[in-house]
Amino acid sequence: MEKVRCLIIGSGPAGYTAAIYTGRANLSPVLYEGIQPGGQLTTTTEVENFPGYPDGVNGQEMMEDIRRQAERFGVDIRAAIATKCDLSERPYKFWFDNGDEVEAETVIICTGATAKYLGLSDETKYAGMGVSACATCDGFFYRKKVVAVVGGGDTACEEANYLAGLAKKVYLIVRKNYLRASQIMQDRVMSNPKIEVLFEHNATGLYGEEGVEGVHLVKRKGEADESHYDLPIDGFFLAIGHKPNSDIFKPWVKTDETGYIKLEGNTQSTGIPGVFAAGDVADPTYRQGVVAASAGCKAAIEAERYLTENNL
Ligand code: NDP
Repeated sequence: MEKVRCLIIGSGPAGYTAAIYTGRANLSPVLYEGIQPGGQLTTTTEVENFPGYPDGVNGQEMMEDIRRQAERFGVDIRAAIATKCDLSERPYKFWFDNGDEVEAETVIICTGATAKYLGLSDETKYAGMGVSACATCDGFFYRKKVVAVVGGGDTACEEANYLAGLAKKVYLIVRKNYLRASQIMQDRVMSNPKIEVLFEHNATGLYGEEGVEGVHLVKRKGEADESHYDLPIDGFFLAIGHKPNSDIFKPWVKTDETGYIKLEGNTQSTGIPGVFAAGDVADPTYRQGVVAASAGCKAAIEAERYLTENNL
């Protein structure tokens, strides 16, 4: 097995920032890009809230910039996906889908999370053209427009409230006849005059020429009074949950009920000595690129200190 001092799994803002810091600290980091090189931001068209880009930047271009910055400090970036690991003792062992086998003294897990989608082909067709899974990222483009949010949990309510501060009108599309969100979030939604909750509704498709112009809805699906109609909207936001990409680590690290990796106190440590996590895989709360980048920085500094303290 190949031996490395610092292994980084994942290539979003957390992974690349960890690479910049560990590269500059001479740890000779090796980074595996994973399923989606560049991470979730590569699916966003315009990023306006990442510091350093006063005029905004295309998500793909921004991730290429951060990658180039990491390459400047000698990170070895490899295109493969980690399929299995053994974190029972140091050095930690990893297996990859291209056949690579690596033993690492420190590991920084930056595998991110994946937003859940309904699975409609129109979600792909209109990706970046009116379909989004992040109101904080893309809400600004819908000022004074009409949007719909799908979901009935805390995220959906939070995103509907956030969007109501920008948009002219927000529809909340809820499949059941009640909201699953906490009472306080429900109250905020129900008392906001800009939000209209469409209970017992499912979205079945989207339509529009250049981008989203409306959503096909079915009301009371499967009931005797089932009805279908189209609702004109400019933006379609999914808020039906995220799935943290933590599956291969679950036998070893602590996760919450959704699968987010739990961290020790105010650190990036997973609790396994020398194994850290950063970014969305360990962040059910903020899920922002800039927060992931800062977590990647913290994890890198902690990895460097761990190697020094243990003479590795
Ligand atoms: P949840 O799993 O709590 O809610 C998902 C929502 O999406 C549910 O209303 C669910 O409907 C709906 N949904 C799921 N799949 C579909 C589908 N295929 N079609 C239509 N609707 C669907 O996820 P959240 O992201 O909202 O929250 C995750 C966790 O994070 C929760 O514990 C939440 O409390 C927490 N959180 C807390 C916040 C806060 O306190 N400020 C903010 C955001 C999240 P159904 O109810 O019918 O299953």
